[in-house]
Amino acid sequence: MLNPWQITRLDDEGRAALATARALVFLDVDGVLNHSGMWDDPPPRSSCPATLEFRREQFDPACVERVERLCTSTGAVVVISSSWRIAHSLAELRCMLRCRGLQAAVVGATPRLPDRDIDGRRIERGHEIRAWLDEHDRGLPFVVLDDDGDMATVHDQHVRTSLLTGGFNDEALTRAIAVILGDKTGEPL
Ligand SMILES: [Mg+2]
Repeated sequence: MLNPWQITRLDDEGRAALATARALVFLDVDGVLNHSGMWDDPPPRSSCPATLEFRREQFDPACVERVERLCTSTGAVVVISSSWRIAHSLAELRCMLRCRGLQAAVVGATPRLPDRDIDGRRIERGHEIRAWLDEHDRGLPFVVLDDDGDMATVHDQHVRTSLLTGGFNDEALTRAIAVILGDKTGEPL
C-alpha cells in the first residue's frame, strides 16, 4: 500500500530526468489516454506485465504517441496527476506507458491531498499539481492534460480533453505545444 504522502518524492530516475528537463507535462489517464472510441475498436493488448491482470487495455497507443511527440518537441518530462497514481506504483505506470510507446521520462506523480482543506473548501486536482510544483519545480513551463476542469490556479496551463472526442487528439496536441511555448493559454476545448 502506497503512502500517498510519499509518492511525490523523486527516485533516482526521476531526479536525473528532471534535472535536464525543459518543460513538464502533468498527465491524466482516463479521458486523455483512453476514450469512447476504444469501446468499439479496442487496440491490441500490450505485453506490459503491469496490465496483464486488467480486463481491458486502457491506453490508446495513438494518444500515448501524441504525448511522446509533445515531450520530444518541447523537451518535456511527464508527471502523473491521474488517480491511477493511487492504485498503481510509479514503476507500473512507467511500464504501461513505455509498452505503449512513451520514451519520455516519467519523473513522478503528484501528491494526494485530502478532499477538503481545514476550512471545508474543496481541494481540486489543480491544488495537487501546484503542491508538486511548490516542492520540485524550478520555473519550467508546463501543461496540464486532463478531461476534468478542477484546475484551480493552473487553469491557464490546462488543455482539456474529452472521452467523446478521442482523448488527447491532434487539436489538443497543437494546443498543448502552444501552452508550453507560451503562445496561448489553455482554455478548455
Ligand atoms: Mg480523467
